[in-house]
Amino acid sequence: MDAEAPVIKQLQNRHSRFRLGLIGDPVAHSLSPRMQQAALDALGIDAVYELWQTPADELAACVARLLDPLYLGANVTIPHKQAVLPLLDIVDPLAARIGAVNTIVPRDGYLHGYNTDAPGLLHALQELGVGKPSESTTISLTGYTAIILGAGGAARAAAFALASTGVERLIIVNRHLERAQHLAAEVGDFLTAQRQELSVPQVFSLSDPEFLIPHPLSLIINATPVGMHEDLSPLPGEVLARFGNETFVFDMIYNPAETKLLCQARTLGMRASNGLPMLLHQGALAFTLWTGQPAPLEVMRTALTAE
Ligand code: NAP
Repeated sequence: MDAEAPVIKQLQNRHSRFRLGLIGDPVAHSLSPRMQQAALDALGIDAVYELWQTPADELAACVARLLDPLYLGANVTIPHKQAVLPLLDIVDPLAARIGAVNTIVPRDGYLHGYNTDAPGLLHALQELGVGKPSESTTISLTGYTAIILGAGGAARAAAFALASTGVERLIIVNRHLERAQHLAAEVGDFLTAQRQELSVPQVFSLSDPEFLIPHPLSLIINATPVGMHEDLSPLPGEVLARFGNETFVFDMIYNPAETKLLCQARTLGMRASNGLPMLLHQGALAFTLWTGQPAPLEVMRTALTAE
């Protein structure tokens, strides 16, 4: 991602308050306004971060409005992360590969699209002490087996992010096997183009995880919503129990803070985290893209965790 020169300086003399927002449907539950407003205020940027509830038939108009100089940018969430791509002028290569944009930046009269979920996940894992720090890819996961539960937008971001970290093995487990197979093939093509040694990811059905062979040094990432609305886990406890206690479990869900999967992992003595660090880091990366300023990470973290 290329964070261009700060736009803030050239905008400082204007009298109107600048605007940023979250485009999605629904958006009311989002923690992004809290986190982003705290960051804007901490840096003295006269802007307001709003919730823009946007049905599909209003998406194009909502995105086009971002070219007005009053707008610094936007986040995009469910269900528009894919649909927004053709509405943008320039899509960052990583976002194009993932097929999802969660950050829009108006720059020089053009709308640029980025995906900060992918690097946000790697920054979160780095902070959680998973793998080894790496200058080029944030973290190196050499020797790890990464198991992604899900094959939707967030899983795609995780798969392409992890594919560049040197993981030894990538496994995709999804409810609809065909979707996992498509993602595995795309990641395989990407790896071949990059001349990387990792072979095409393996795929399994979430309804039959019995075949999931435990590998030492595993990283299990839940990128499904299972556990968000009900006390359910995407993996049966007995399957998880086959993995060693050096396994790290990352659940992208952050509400509730402690899902059944996380409880299972902690009971087995595994390290585990909910999705809050990923939310924080994807937001921090978006903030820098909009403002050209380093994000005040601790201010944003405090805002996220405040009751
Ligand atoms: P998505 O594109 O709709 O994908 C959902 C995935 O979950 C699909 O693979 C789907 O499987 C699977 N799934 C849905 N319901 C299921 C069920 N009842 N049983 C088994 N599998 C099920 O959604 P997404 O954008 O990827 O988001 C996935 C999760 O990640 C959400 O909980 C979201 O809140 C979270 N997330 C967190 C962050 C963060 O910053 N922490 C960022 C992005 C997303 P099929 O393909 O078989 O339908």
